[in-house]
Amino acid sequence: MLRFPIGQAYLWQDGEALTLIDAGHAGSAAEIEAAIRSLGLLPERLERIVLTHCHRDHVGAAGELAACWGAPVLAHRLDAPVIRGERPVPEPVLLDWEIPLYAHGLTVPEAPPTRVDHEVEDGDALGFGDGAYVVHTPGHTDGSIGIHLPHHGVLFTGDCVAAVGPLMLGVFNVDRARAIDSFHRLAGLSPSIACFGHGDPLTADTAAALVKAAAGTPA
Ligand SMILES: [Zn+2]
Ligand SMILES: [Zn+2]
Repeated sequence: MLRFPIGQAYLWQDGEALTLIDAGHAGSAAEIEAAIRSLGLLPERLERIVLTHCHRDHVGAAGELAACWGAPVLAHRLDAPVIRGERPVPEPVLLDWEIPLYAHGLTVPEAPPTRVDHEVEDGDALGFGDGAYVVHTPGHTDGSIGIHLPHHGVLFTGDCVAAVGPLMLGVFNVDRARAIDSFHRLAGLSPSIACFGHGDPLTADTAAALVKAAAGTPA
């Protein structure tokens, strides 16, 4: 897990082949490269960058890393135009308590228009992690995805789920009702390890905690 002042990215290793899930904030490419090297791994073995959605704290350095290391960028079809800068970032419907948090989130530098080499859809195989596949989880944004590695019992939730404080539905959703449906869907995958866009991963009693948190989310 790579931590940034706001948000996180994850590096998955299959032998020497690397997959980056989300890409920090704009300007963090050197920091990500240094983190890869600090693990004794080679950034030139970065084989793909998978973006869970179009927000600046996840897209940030993807373009710079892709240009540097030749890794293709993957994102859902519905968020790809936003990531490319062809469409504006969709405005969330903020709850009252989210308003100051959202303003804080905007202190992250805006992501530059970023190439997306492969648009993915629900159920698409991603070619790493012994069978990682896309789980479309609309609600946070229309093209938000989770990434499920059933062979390893690992689930990357993106911002559909957050663990900053209690385990909860992610904040800043464009469609809260759809986001809650997506939360239930992710919980139903019963992962052993869940990795969030914000907050510490869950590694124990994960499936039950996700089911409970999804069930306890007010509409
Ligand atoms: Zn985020
Ligand atoms: Zn987000």
